[in-house]
Amino acid sequence: MRVDPSSSAAEPAVVHSLYVHVPFCHTICGYCDFYSEVLDRRRVTPLVDALLRELDQLTARYRLALDTIFVGGGTPTVLPAPELERLLTRVAALASAECEFNVEANPATVTDEIADALQRAGVNRVSIGAQSFDRGELAVLDRIHNPEQVPQTVERVRRAGIPRISLDLIFAVPGQSVQRWLANVSAALALGPQHLSCYGLTYEPGTPLYDQLRTGRVQRVDEDREADMFEATIDHLAAAGFEQYEISNFARPGEACRHNLVYWNNLPALAIGPSAAGFDGSLRYRNVPDTAAYVRMIESGAAPRIEEECLSFDRRMRESAMLGLRLTRGLDRAAFTERFSHDPLTLFPDRGADFIRDGLLHADADCVRLTRRGLLLANRVSAAVL
Ligand code: SF4
Repeated sequence: MRVDPSSSAAEPAVVHSLYVHVPFCHTICGYCDFYSEVLDRRRVTPLVDALLRELDQLTARYRLALDTIFVGGGTPTVLPAPELERLLTRVAALASAECEFNVEANPATVTDEIADALQRAGVNRVSIGAQSFDRGELAVLDRIHNPEQVPQTVERVRRAGIPRISLDLIFAVPGQSVQRWLANVSAALALGPQHLSCYGLTYEPGTPLYDQLRTGRVQRVDEDREADMFEATIDHLAAAGFEQYEISNFARPGEACRHNLVYWNNLPALAIGPSAAGFDGSLRYRNVPDTAAYVRMIESGAAPRIEEECLSFDRRMRESAMLGLRLTRGLDRAAFTERFSHDPLTLFPDRGADFIRDGLLHADADCVRLTRRGLLLANRVSAAVL
């Protein structure tokens, strides 16, 4: 989302991106640390009512002309089709003609009725949480679907007339070999998606998987093998015509996720729903991560926020550098300097030369970007920038 520079104090700022968080799932996966609760159908209508009222709160304050919409969670497709369509149709009324309208879906939840509801509401991109095509790996991850349901879901979404498909995959699942990981990538490619997101499994404190790791019930894939998987992914997908445009994201030409590019370019994106975090260009906010409390706050007429922070110029600049370095094209030095009056290399005066010497960072007259090795160790570079 952009804030229109022609907006003045007298006019509401024009914003172009919106995230909608649907906080329900069928079950909670053992590795997940997103805010989500097990679906209770009695709570769906109050939730959708509250989401629409929060949308009204935003439209009273900003002018929403949406070029990107991302509905995530949670699992938006666990909502009953009429309620999902009611939500999406209202959001779609704020979309521009060229809007990228994405909904996250999980394979076991997409019926023909859901796929048709998405299509009727104007959804033009679905990101499907495939994660793996191996039954054993899906079990380790506590996923409720089986491998056969992934192609069925892709087929259903396409049959409904939704053209763009992204598949999410997870690598470094306990017990996974490089070869088995690449078999997953090949199985995903065989379904002809325009986009793939490939994330290494993380063990987040507080999750059941983290406890299993701590108590020795699962073994983490060792670092070298995980690095081999990451590098093999880049090569395998490049050979299939996919460009790595962000550390974990790969797309056919012209098919990068426009909504996520808004985040990586640190541009404004509003958000609604429990736990959702939005940014209007200077103010960052986060909503209460509790669905019951969220609905209560909205019903009482309050904004459902638990945090609001006006970002300092320095913080915005550093975050922009950190996020922009996630993109393989890196930071355009001239554009960054024009936006922040600082060359990006000046943000890590002590370590920049070390990173370049160690082969993590590349700098030339036009750009500063992570090298292939640097993409693997991006957190180390980001920490120095922040
Ligand atoms: S389906 Fe996604 S959001 Fe829901 S619990 Fe699993 S990983 Fe988390």
